Amino acid sequence: MNAHISQKELAEQHLLEAAKEFQKCMQCGKCRSVCPVFKEFGNELYVARGKNKLAEKLVSGDLQITKKVESAINECLNCKTCSTNCPAGVSPEHVVLRLRWYITTQKGLHFFKALIFRQLLWRKWPITLGCSIVALAQRVLFGIGPKNPVRYLFPLFGFAKRRNFPQLALRSAQSILPEVNPAKNGPRKMRIGYFTGCAGNLIYTNVAKSVVDVLTAYGHEVVIPKKQKCNGTPVLSNGDYEGARRLMQHNFDLFRQYDLDAIVVACSSCGMSLKKEIKVFIDDSPELQEFTGKVYDINEFIEQNLEIKPEQLGRLPYKVTYHDPCHMVRGQGIKDQPRELLKMIPGVEFTEMKNADTCCGSAGSYCITHYETSIKINDHKIKDIQDANVDMVATGCPTCVMHISDNLAQHDSKENVKFVVELLADSLRAAKTI
Ligand code: SF4
Ligand code: SF4
Repeated sequence: MNAHISQKELAEQHLLEAAKEFQKCMQCGKCRSVCPVFKEFGNELYVARGKNKLAEKLVSGDLQITKKVESAINECLNCKTCSTNCPAGVSPEHVVLRLRWYITTQKGLHFFKALIFRQLLWRKWPITLGCSIVALAQRVLFGIGPKNPVRYLFPLFGFAKRRNFPQLALRSAQSILPEVNPAKNGPRKMRIGYFTGCAGNLIYTNVAKSVVDVLTAYGHEVVIPKKQKCNGTPVLSNGDYEGARRLMQHNFDLFRQYDLDAIVVACSSCGMSLKKEIKVFIDDSPELQEFTGKVYDINEFIEQNLEIKPEQLGRLPYKVTYHDPCHMVRGQGIKDQPRELLKMIPGVEFTEMKNADTCCGSAGSYCITHYETSIKINDHKIKDIQDANVDMVATGCPTCVMHISDNLAQHDSKENVKFVVELLADSLRAAKTI
């Protein structure tokens, strides 16, 4: 889509794209049996079929944007369960995104969203500094445990008092790790760009370190472009088409300067965004195809390219299950690779949990804006985890880790939640391979 068109043309294009999708809907109602939000509310407006009808009426002019319409459009996790199961091949989540973008062209972007998406995420340093300050406060002043008195202040910022936040990193991964991490143990094989994502940079720095340690130990050079910014997923999900386009264009231009053989991510939404969503925002070209063709989820990359021998792995005595992030399993078709990596680790006793690929309810910013619903959806996941009788849940998405960990703690449940690549790195460290 052209980046330099008027707001009116942009609005028309969003409606046209939405119409292309909803016109395929046969109104069969199959999506009602799979949509996690519909399962909680039983409200036709919240399921794909209802949203398609809503979109049709908006496009035809029979319906105006009201609070009720906006609220229905915002009740979607972008989990892609409906599109995966739709016999007519509709992608209702794309209808939803187009309508959110359309609404922004009509009503403008909310002040706080504009501040976060167009200023803070773009400039980056205020968020990095803010996270370091909170990280210090978490350690020195109040900790992150259930007795933390600061919880009483959470509602002032729109958060539930019972919510458990992850420990933020004092220093970002991008400030700890060098920009170029040389290959170890012999001549360089590939030159790999690493897109850390915001969570890998500011919260789960151990994941970033694990990615670098694993790839460099197997002969790859890892480059972490320091000027990388948010992949744009939370921005586009919140209706800011322009903000998302600017971020995607920036990362596309930046990574292409580094002459990379591959680009890895350790976040399911970053992976889906850099492989697929970017195509909505940047004109299709051979350069874009070359770029998207180089993007790999870390599990996918390791499975395809690293020859890990059994003697290089140390024992991890864990009973482990795996939760499929929506943007990995349905967004990128990655299902077997993380399981294969887990099963490779000596000592790991792998159990498949029930409904491993159903949404955990986190859905990025949905679990901030719709916390109570997202926790209700997550309660089903907690039950499946508990039934699996494991002591570890492995996954590949930071918001799934955050949300499942939060609710496990609320259930006084003992299981830890980790990234697959962290466990693999732990196993390689146990054998002193890395
Ligand atoms: S499953 Fe597909 S075709 Fe059937 S109602 Fe839902 S969106 Fe429409
Ligand atoms: S993407 Fe998920 S939450 Fe949204 S309508 Fe489809 S099934 Fe429901």
